[in-house]
This record gives sequence, C-alpha cells and structure tokens, in this order.
Amino acid sequence: MPCTASPQSWYYRSMWSRWELRTALKDVYWPQEDWAGKVPEIKKKIQSFLPGGAWNPLYDTSHLPPERTDVVIVGGGVLGLSVAYWLKRLEKQQGAIQVLVVERDHTYSRASTGLSVGGIRQQFSLPENVQLSLFSVDFLRNINDYLGVVDDPPLDLQFNPSGYLLLASEKGAAIMENNVKVQRQEGAKVCLMSPEQLQNKFPWINTEGVALASYGLEGEGWFDPWCLLQGLRRKVQSMGVLFCHGEVTRFVSSSNRMETTSGEEVTLKRIHEVHVKMDHSLEYQPVECAIVINAAGAWSGQIAELAGIGKGPPGTLRGTKLPVEPRKRYVYVWHCSQGPGLGTPLVADSSGAYFRREGLGNNYLGGCSPTEEEEPDPGNLEVDHDFFQGKVWPHLAQRVPAFENLKVRSAWAGYYDYNTFDQNGVVGPHPLVVNMYFATGFSGHGLQQAPAVGRAVAELVLEGHFQTINLSSFFFSRFYLGEKVTEHNIL
Ligand SMILES: Cc1cc2nc3c(=O)[nH]c(=O)nc-3n(C[C@H](O)[C@H](O)[C@H](O)COP(=O)(O)OP(=O)(O)OC[C@H]3O[C@@H](n4cnc5c(N)ncnc54)[C@H](O)[C@@H]3O)c2cc1C
Repeated sequence: MPCTASPQSWYYRSMWSRWELRTALKDVYWPQEDWAGKVPEIKKKIQSFLPGGAWNPLYDTSHLPPERTDVVIVGGGVLGLSVAYWLKRLEKQQGAIQVLVVERDHTYSRASTGLSVGGIRQQFSLPENVQLSLFSVDFLRNINDYLGVVDDPPLDLQFNPSGYLLLASEKGAAIMENNVKVQRQEGAKVCLMSPEQLQNKFPWINTEGVALASYGLEGEGWFDPWCLLQGLRRKVQSMGVLFCHGEVTRFVSSSNRMETTSGEEVTLKRIHEVHVKMDHSLEYQPVECAIVINAAGAWSGQIAELAGIGKGPPGTLRGTKLPVEPRKRYVYVWHCSQGPGLGTPLVADSSGAYFRREGLGNNYLGGCSPTEEEEPDPGNLEVDHDFFQGKVWPHLAQRVPAFENLKVRSAWAGYYDYNTFDQNGVVGPHPLVVNMYFATGFSGHGLQQAPAVGRAVAELVLEGHFQTINLSSFFFSRFYLGEKVTEHNIL
C-alpha cells in the first residue's frame, strides 16, 4: 500500500521554492494558526498559475510514512517485526489496526539480528526465559504455518538441531542442578551428565575442572537469523504493515498531572507524534499515532531518552533510564582439520568461552563475552584479533586439545542489546510515558525469543494484559524498584 502525505505536510511546503511561494501567496495573508483554513485558497492560487491547472505533485512521495497510523514500531529488526506480525495476527478484525515499522538501515548492517550466531536453547535459569524459548522453538519448527505467504516459496531456516552442552565447575554445579530443575518443570528436555558420562559421549572433551554438564535433548540448535528476519518482513508486508526507511528523531507528547490514591502527584505523558527523518535528506515527516513500540535493539536506550525517559531527578521514576546499550561482541570462525567433527554441539565452557560447529568442513565458530573491565569501545564494529589469542583460544585449547592447532579464517563483531541492570528483556509499557511499549534488552538471547516476545507485547497492546506467557517480571518498573530479575545462563 503506498504511503501518502497531504499537501499540508512539511514535505510539500519544503518542495516550493521561496519565489514560487511568494508569487503564489503574495496577496494572501494568513496568520500561522490559521494555516489549515487557508489551504483551499492557497491551492486555488497555485492552480491559477501552474500550467495544466489541476494540483498535480511532481514528486514521488511513496517513500514517506503516512501522516497517521495506530502503531509506530521503532526498529525493523527481529523484535520489531515480530511485534508487527502478532499485532496483525491477533487483531480482532482484518485491517483493524494500522502498523508502521520505521527502520533507518534497510541493509541492517549494524543490527544485532543479522550479526548473531542464530542459536536457540531451553537452558535458562528463569522460568520466563524457558517458556519464551519453548514457544519460539515451536514457532521455528512450524515456520511456514506462521510465516508462509501464498505463491511465495517456503522458508528454509536451515535449522540445525543440536543440544547445547553447558559445563559447570565445582562452584557452578549446584546452580546448574537447580537450573535444570526449573527447565524440566517448564517442560524442557534436558539431562545432567557426570564428567564420566561426558567423556563417554564426547571423547574429544578434556573434562578437567568440569564437575557437572547439562545437555539439551530437544528444541535446541541454530538457524539462519537472516532468513527469519526476511521471512517476518515478507509476511508482515503481506498482512498490510507499512515500512518506512527513515530514522525516528523526535517525539511530541502531551502531559497530564494525576494524583495517586496516596495523594502523590505524577505527570503522565502520552506521545502523539513521532518525527521520522527521511534517509539521506533533511526532510522529516510527523506521524500521529496512538502507540509507540520501542524495538530499537541496542539503541533503544537512546529512543527512550528521546521520549524523556530518565530525564527527571535521580532516584525518581522519572529519572530512571532504560538501561539498554550497545555492547560489542566478537565472533571468530576457525578451521581445525583434527577438530571434534560433525557431532559437535554448542559447548558453553565454565570459563565463559563457547563454540559450535559451523557448516560441514571442519569449521567452528565461537567467542567469549568480555569482563566488565574488558568491554571494548562500542564506537565501531572492528574486530580485536588479540582478544581471540589472549582470551578465547586458551580456553578452547584447554577444553578441546585438538583446538591447539586451529586457524582463524574470519571474524565479525555485532552489538548485544545489553541490559546493564540484569541482562534480561524489557517488555511492556513505560509507567509514565504510557503509550511507549518496550520489546528490547534481551542481551544475547533476543533472536530466539523474538517470536514469543512479539506475541506478548501484542497481547498487552491489544488486550491490556498477557494472555499466554506472563512476563510482568520484565516490566520497566523493576529498574526503579531495584529488583533484579537475574538470568544465570547468559553466554
Ligand atoms: C554476536 C552476537 C551473537 C548473538 N547470538 C545470539 C544467539 O545465538 N541467539 C539469540 O537468541 N540471540 C543472539 N544474539 C542477540 C540477538 O541478535 C539480539 O538480541 C536480537 O537480534 C535483537 O533484535 P532487535 O530487533 O531488538 O535488534 P536489531 O536487530 O538491532 O534491530 C533494531 C533495529 O532498530 C533500528 N533503529 C535503531 N534506532 C533507530 C531509530 N532511531 N529509527 C529507526 N530505526 C532505528 C536499527 O537500525 C536496527 O535495525 C546475538 C547477538 C550478537 C551481537
């Protein structure tokens, strides 16, 4: 569906040269506030001097967003698209809700989604995260039931089923045992292995320092993130979701003072206009809307700030920031002809290093999250090869002696949408900016959970409460209350 902009928009105004404007309007006086009322008169004037008479814009406006829509989604990564999908899928009547996705980079060159390693697992410590991944794996398994488009080829996610193998030292063994209990309670199929069992199943592992291992028996593996992204995009377009290539740069909101039952005064804000700056241009288009979804990934903290979130006095709800920021993570790909081979699962070592097989030619990929002190500058996506030599490879070679002889073939870096407070997702509306909803902050597990998170956010928007998975522990208010929802299994 083409996007349109009426002649009242800033865009059209900017298209007239000063001379044309002066000629057209020289004997028309209109005070600024009377602009709308004067438009027909102005049009008539213009028609009288333009050849051809009728108002006929010369410029293609199909790239502009509409002037109003029900929902604006900031960010067209996997989370934004999943919210768009579920809003359309759960709407009560077809076409009842208009959704616009604003994405500033259609190549997704810096977006987390395309730069992730595409893993899905059930092995989390929080029941909510297990439930999210359980639903998501079902979604991925039946991807063409969800995302199939008539007359288009089916999606092939290149899903590679393989358990995650998590290794715990003596210190982490009790936590691992507890985590597995939670995972099983939620319905995940995970087994615990002693070092001897581990050695029997994976003889290429050096079990020194391993006290316990957990291994996923179902619903784990890796897939092509780009395929999921493009599949969602294709599907939501077929459902009538509009896309706009531009950057959200400003929100216009109104405020309302309220008194709580305890007599405390609070100011509630409601965004009613989103300004979208068009790509490679100074043009911007205001879009009126009822709901804003902040799905800007690693940059969602900045989007929250644009809406005034975190700008109040420290220690107050108004002064509480959305603690999501870009954290650079490296992924290295190496070749090892004597490596563990096709049966290599995704191994998460107790040291924090992880690796898995990549393709079929004795290639592997992996990395390790840096410590807080080692966090690299997120200003660019350059790869630090010394990090592999100093911080990753020693752990790999210790755990898999064959990795003593490996050759790094390539590497890339991407941004985690990192929640510095507790490394977990942020879902639901802001308590004060009442029509900004979050779908962000998943810190390294957002790809796999996107199908379920999109559904949860759509439920909140459409029904006002969660209907399937209760994610109220992921609400923004926990940052103000200081209540961490800690996930122990962050890779
Ligand atoms: C190296 C690496 C490995 C990972 N491995 C895994 C894994 O194995 N499994 C897993 O589940 N997750 C993994 N992740 C995490 C996962 O990729 C992210 O959690 C997920 O992709 C986040 O999706 P998103 O849509 O929120 O963010 P993104 O994909 O980054 O999308 C956000 C979009 O918002 C746009 N945007 C930002 N600001 C604006 C603005 N002002 N106006 C318009 N658009 C804007 C950006 O251009 C971007 O395209 C990994 C991440 C990295 C970096």
